[in-house]
Amino acid sequence: MSTHTGATGLIPLAGRGRGLAPLVHPEIEPFWSSIAAGELSLQRCGGCRTLRFPVAPVCHSCLSPEFAWEAIDTRGSVNVVVENARPTEGMPRIGLEPPWLELTPYLTGAVDLDCGLRLPGRIVCDCGAARSPGTRVRGVSLETTSTTRVHGFAHACVVGPFE
Ligand SMILES: [Zn+2]
Ligand SMILES: [Zn+2]
Repeated sequence: MSTHTGATGLIPLAGRGRGLAPLVHPEIEPFWSSIAAGELSLQRCGGCRTLRFPVAPVCHSCLSPEFAWEAIDTRGSVNVVVENARPTEGMPRIGLEPPWLELTPYLTGAVDLDCGLRLPGRIVCDCGAARSPGTRVRGVSLETTSTTRVHGFAHACVVGPFE
């Protein structure tokens, strides 16, 4: 476990399985290094102030190429959850390939952040509450098959109270 910064940043989790390593493009390296540093930084448009996601070379709202990286508040509410279940013995595998297969069962979904963005990610919850839309979660960082961490979300049953 590394240290995390900021009450609203990303809490590093360990022992939750390693998802596929992301492709780290040089243009958005600050996004990945912010996750390593315990924050989730996105682009704030220099033209219209829109907070951009997905990360992109130009603003989807005003087409400005100007932006500054900004660490966001990672707290939000579950919008939708998908449970990636363990394949039934003897049944053909559909969709999930390594390393995801080894992580089953696990939750992925979309979270409506308090800052107004909807972000995808794994959702870590041991009690089952996060299967329900509206459940409060906050950002975490998760291990991958490389040294690069990815963002995800976790329920209070995993990371403790955060509101
Ligand atoms: Zn803009
Ligand atoms: Zn939970």
